[in-house]
Amino acid sequence: MSENRRKVALITGAGRGIGKATALVLASKGFDIAVHDIDGTTAAETASLIRQSGVDAESFAADVSNRDAMGAVVSAVEARFGAIDALVNNAGIASDRCPLEQVTEAMFQRSIGVHVAGTLWTTQAAIIGMKQRNAGSIVNLSSIQALVGWSEGATYNAAKGALIALSKGWAKEFAPWNIRVNVVAPGHTETEMTVRNDSAELRAAKAKTIPLGRYARPEEMGEAIAFLASDAASFVTGQVLSPNGGFVIT
Ligand code: NAP
Repeated sequence: MSENRRKVALITGAGRGIGKATALVLASKGFDIAVHDIDGTTAAETASLIRQSGVDAESFAADVSNRDAMGAVVSAVEARFGAIDALVNNAGIASDRCPLEQVTEAMFQRSIGVHVAGTLWTTQAAIIGMKQRNAGSIVNLSSIQALVGWSEGATYNAAKGALIALSKGWAKEFAPWNIRVNVVAPGHTETEMTVRNDSAELRAAKAKTIPLGRYARPEEMGEAIAFLASDAASFVTGQVLSPNGGFVIT
């Protein structure tokens, strides 16, 4: 493989929202982009948008919770681009909001399956090539919900908290191979996830509880993720960065 090749980022759940914004930011910062999503149509749209800016991109569709499918995606990305330098485990689903007594096995398995197993299987497949090259950067998407707790959000709290613990362990496990692992824990961000979940009135009320007085734009998360994914953060590993407009200040 040529030493002069461009860096490559694989972003899961990049058909829309924070993943799509991250793909566009990383494309603007010199990465070629593997766009993954469960929805092949939205993934292809993101990849097409990136190609229009003159950057190489291709789309890959799979359910992130399916270990074999994500192994195949990682192999396909490596075959297409030569390597994966940065992996962004972003694919996610909204929080189930209900009292603990109403949590079902299906809710729990889905949240853990998409967020925790999805991140674990994708990383397990991508880490092989990163170790061979003695280089790599992984950014996992948690949430402020894992930092401050959210009432009636057991399945999401469990999943997003687990991602922080996984990331800290991996930061130590992979450091000997010069592979960094960090977390972005977004605050309230204006994406389909939040627009679908909350009415405009509720979002306006929530915005008043954020010191900066508004929701984040997806690209503001993309900038934070891109920083951790890139060499600009070459001495940063095992850390949690939470762009949240001052909602959580410790
Ligand atoms: P979003 O707008 O709903 O986008 C999530 C993307 O992930 C969608 O393209 C979705 O595809 C995809 N996806 C869902 N399930 C998948 C699966 N099983 N396999 C592969 N792809 C799948 O959400 P977002 O707001 O951008 O959130 C991105 C990440 O940030 C998530 O991990 C979320 O938990 C986290 N986060 C978001 C906020 C926020 O305020 N928005 C706050 C804290 C943390 P489909 O649309 O086709 O289902």
